[in-house]
Amino acid sequence: MTDSLELGSIKVSWLSGGDFELDGGTMYGAVPKILWQKKYPADKENYIKMLNAPLLVQTEGHNVIIDTGIGNKLTDKQKQIFRVYREWDMVANLAEKGLSRQDIDIVILTHCDFDHAGGVVMVNDSGKLELTFPRARHIIQKLEWEDVRHPNIRSIHTYWPDNFTGLEASGLLDLVDGEAVIAPGIKVRLTGGHTRGHQLVEMEGTEGCAAHLGDLFPTHTHSNPLWIMAYDNFPLEVVALKQQLLPGYREKSCWFTFYHDIFMKACRLDDGGKVTKALS
Ligand SMILES: [Zn+2]
Repeated sequence: MTDSLELGSIKVSWLSGGDFELDGGTMYGAVPKILWQKKYPADKENYIKMLNAPLLVQTEGHNVIIDTGIGNKLTDKQKQIFRVYREWDMVANLAEKGLSRQDIDIVILTHCDFDHAGGVVMVNDSGKLELTFPRARHIIQKLEWEDVRHPNIRSIHTYWPDNFTGLEASGLLDLVDGEAVIAPGIKVRLTGGHTRGHQLVEMEGTEGCAAHLGDLFPTHTHSNPLWIMAYDNFPLEVVALKQQLLPGYREKSCWFTFYHDIFMKACRLDDGGKVTKALS
């Protein structure tokens, strides 16, 4: 596996955020199984294997993490329920790259569902909770944070308070409202759609660009604007966002980077939404 995407001044690589299985249908909403299973095969029980692959984005003077995986706080029972088949291993992955937790200065959360925010807070060697990246500003959209603090009957099952223990008190919570430049060449934009405060990340290097659309574009099989997840809170918004956003990035020949895709880390698309180049 080629494990990184080089964009000149920006280098993107992927980490192990703890991988799990989901009912295949939940990833494709109203799309019939006969269509999606050709592209993303399910097992006999209809489960598909998903990655939770946080991105490490390295640019001059900054080590940025996009989303943090499921973390190491799940009980055995929860691991069974979510069919976790590979453990969260971000700290060791970073060490292999010569980085420590303290070297990460920015964490961007596309949104705060447990499979994206589970690694914000970790259990340390003495069994206590602590911030995984104790020096990093944590970039979250204001609307998303409001919903974390006041979850509804549905989101209460995915915005787990333990995933944010101590974050606000640390002074490292950095709420943004809409669009913001986070570091040279790295920008976030509020999208909504999947959750009310979902955001995307744009990366513009000296030799190419990439767009990370989080759960609006979770795998390469979701390039069709109508192929959306059953988990989307505002499905028609997701369809419209994909119609609106994908052509712009395609015209610029940007890479699309993925968080949940077991087959592809990133790809480029043609006008018809077909993959023209893949990083797997
Ligand atoms: Zn997700």
